[in-house]
Amino acid sequence: MNKEKKAFTRTCIACNSKKNKYELLRIAYTKNNEISIDKDSKKEGRGIYLCYKPECLDKAIKTKKIEKKLNTIISEDFYEDIRGVIIDKKETGTIQNDKQNGGDI
Ligand SMILES: [Zn+2]
Repeated sequence: MNKEKKAFTRTCIACNSKKNKYELLRIAYTKNNEISIDKDSKKEGRGIYLCYKPECLDKAIKTKKIEKKLNTIISEDFYEDIRGVIIDKKETGTIQNDKQNGGDI
């Protein structure tokens, strides 16, 4: 059984393509009703996945898919943060695992 393979496959909410979860950007929605970009896919709570593609982000914004899925309101600023991460990834090829979020709470 391909249990392991399946466990790492996630679906982009914008284009519905299935990918390894490490190739997708996770947006986490924690128990504290905090929405955040979960670069390492380690945050608890619900989450959605998005390709590292501006097209997918634009689609998600237009259709409000993330908001519907997580049942929350997302600010324009947050979408721009996501865009920044996507562009960053595009330019560097990898995401730097720096600790700019502080990692607390
Ligand atoms: Zn996509």
